[in-house]
Amino acid sequence: MSILPHHLHLHHAVAISRHHRVYCTATTPPKNNRPKLQKLVINVTPPKLDDPSLKSTWAHRAWVATGCTTVLLSLTNSIIGSIDTHIWVEPILSGFVGYLFADLGSGVYHWGIDNYGDASTPVFGSQIDAFQGHHKWPWTITKREFANNLYALARVITYILLPIDLIAHDQPVVMGFVGMACGCIMFSQQFHAWAHGTKSKLPPVVVALQDAGVLVSRSQHADHHRQPYNNNYCIVSGIWNKFLDERKVFEALEMVVFFKLGLRPRSWSEPNTDWTEEMEPSLTTSSPP
Ligand SMILES: [Zn+2]
Ligand SMILES: [Zn+2]
Repeated sequence: MSILPHHLHLHHAVAISRHHRVYCTATTPPKNNRPKLQKLVINVTPPKLDDPSLKSTWAHRAWVATGCTTVLLSLTNSIIGSIDTHIWVEPILSGFVGYLFADLGSGVYHWGIDNYGDASTPVFGSQIDAFQGHHKWPWTITKREFANNLYALARVITYILLPIDLIAHDQPVVMGFVGMACGCIMFSQQFHAWAHGTKSKLPPVVVALQDAGVLVSRSQHADHHRQPYNNNYCIVSGIWNKFLDERKVFEALEMVVFFKLGLRPRSWSEPNTDWTEEMEPSLTTSSPP
């Protein structure tokens, strides 16, 4: 970005997100003078704690309500189908498999958007931007209101799950799987926010579920926010993290992507300012105790 054509006179603001902007200024050097380095002014600021972008709107709440309705519809259909057919083991098992699948899915998705693309990437740009901002200012997730944090996933879940609910409503095993998987994926950002919470401020039941490994633990997710920033991507239960990290599954995927597509993941270039966490303005840390 610092290598700007010297004939340009330019004051350009690139909006990376609502909260941080990169300003580049370049001035034409006088004729016959030696070319000078262009002046690069970077102004990166975190969202303010009372920033409206952290608040929920009625549109956010409507999407979360719709997502919850589609998930509840799936689970209700699964229970009704189980009562009708007197088959309980398979739907319960499929629900458990859905819960496990959600954790794995959250890890693969998180790895993808942490490492590839930028704010201008079609479809995923805003998510990539949000997760990059999250690595710089992790504490903001605890200030973000509930529906604001969940609505993007709730919208995707609604689009995917509603047609399945209509087509496979009489299949209790299918309904059990998709209901649990989609429900856990939709709430993964809430589990993620709790993983950034302070033990004394979290509801005791959440702490108990984190300590039992049902929800991703605060200590496990804290490792994701430390160097080398390439592990513990799963944010539902975290049950897959040890397996995936010990076997270097994501590193293998990164090699495949690099050799097939020539794309370097961001984690290869750490440490840099994209990953480096900035302190909360109040100087309280977001790390779990
Ligand atoms: Zn991340
Ligand atoms: Zn995080």
